Amino acid sequence: MSHIFPRHTRQAPPVAVGGEGCYLIDASGRRYLDASGGAAVSCLGHGDREVVTAIKDQLDRLAFAHTGFFTSRPAEELADLLIANAPGRLDRVYLVSGGSEATEAAIKLARQYWVEKGEPQRGRLIARKQSYHGNTIGALSAGGNEWRRAQFGPLLLDVSHIDPCYEYRLRRAGESPEEYGRRAADALEAEILRLGPETVMAFMAEPVVGATAGALVPAPGYFRRIREICDRYGVLLILDEVMCGMGRTGTLFACEQDGVEPDIACIAKGLGAGYQPIGAMLCSDTIYDTIVAGSGFFQHGHTYIGHPVAAAAGRAVVGAILGRNLLPQVRARGDALASRLDDRFGQHPNVGDLRGRGLFRGIELVRDRESKIPFDPAAGLAGRIKKAAFEAGLICYPMSGTIDGKHGDHVLLAPPFIIEDGQLDELVDKLDVAIAVALATV
Ligand code: PLP
Repeated sequence: MSHIFPRHTRQAPPVAVGGEGCYLIDASGRRYLDASGGAAVSCLGHGDREVVTAIKDQLDRLAFAHTGFFTSRPAEELADLLIANAPGRLDRVYLVSGGSEATEAAIKLARQYWVEKGEPQRGRLIARKQSYHGNTIGALSAGGNEWRRAQFGPLLLDVSHIDPCYEYRLRRAGESPEEYGRRAADALEAEILRLGPETVMAFMAEPVVGATAGALVPAPGYFRRIREICDRYGVLLILDEVMCGMGRTGTLFACEQDGVEPDIACIAKGLGAGYQPIGAMLCSDTIYDTIVAGSGFFQHGHTYIGHPVAAAAGRAVVGAILGRNLLPQVRARGDALASRLDDRFGQHPNVGDLRGRGLFRGIELVRDRESKIPFDPAAGLAGRIKKAAFEAGLICYPMSGTIDGKHGDHVLLAPPFIIEDGQLDELVDKLDVAIAVALATV
């Protein structure tokens, strides 16, 4: 009898006891190919000796010193490393313990910035439908996934949600990808004008949408146009790279590929690679200097921010991503995965779209390719794929509600950066079996 409050009370997951490279091993000795790194977490795979040693060394020196009294060497070094490799004017790092803490801190910092700048009327946040920014109240309010929000509605903040940039479903016939990208971005301007520009504090978006939309890549020029609009109305741009950052798409920060620089960026997941719970919010010198010139402190904080052991893990992980030259490897293996997916599923009658960047790939499933009609949500296709994949020894990240929080199904893949060619074959073979098994039952 377990006393754990599990994710789902009607499922009893196996006990994980080991991890080796791209595989997880349960108590019965069964091996699972970890093709989603849990949820885009385990970018270095399991059992990375260098990261484990860095954590042990830090524990031998110092486990904890509260940031109300001290800073620590690993935190300082991780911040230096991130800023040396961060885009634009990002200059300061606020270390937290996960993705929701990072986005929550970003929302609060955006608000405090405007208060200290003398524009306290700026309190509105604009985000996008079908995005996910975390599960705490502020982060959940920013997210636009209806299923996750529904029952908590009365508790949530009043955030505006514009349409996502979703070329497969929202680009019109005859519209070029560039024209669509511009039209999709212009929805932000329309919403800023509707609310009154002087009331808007920030726009928040995932450069490549992960969990709730399945590696949804922006149309060309979309984020450049978003940046222009933010600049025109003095609105801060918060990019949530919790899932797509830290090399997942082939560059350390996903937004590098869109040619934009955020005012605030959020990272987590791949930052600790699963070895420690860690996230971070990075902000520009302009924002930081405003706080310095104003109250002098960000009115926020948690007990474990800047935890030395978590920071030592983060420093070792980012050091490995850069020092082992893994970014070109992500691009090359990402291409190899994309072409295998295309060969296997490109003509599949129930695969509507294959998308993604680097080792961050999505497969959108449809009942009919021509009309793009999704499966009946009651069929629970994504859940069936997850179960069949797990039974076949494959961990992937299927999700329902791709289109509007209710309709649509996709599978998200985010394997470790060290995945080898033979393992890519194993991934595609097992996924093919899982999709076939699931489709046979709907
Ligand atoms: N932001 C994005 C884009 C995410 O994908 C997630 C988690 O999936 C979060 C925020 C929340 O991160 P966490 O689960 O670490 O709180």
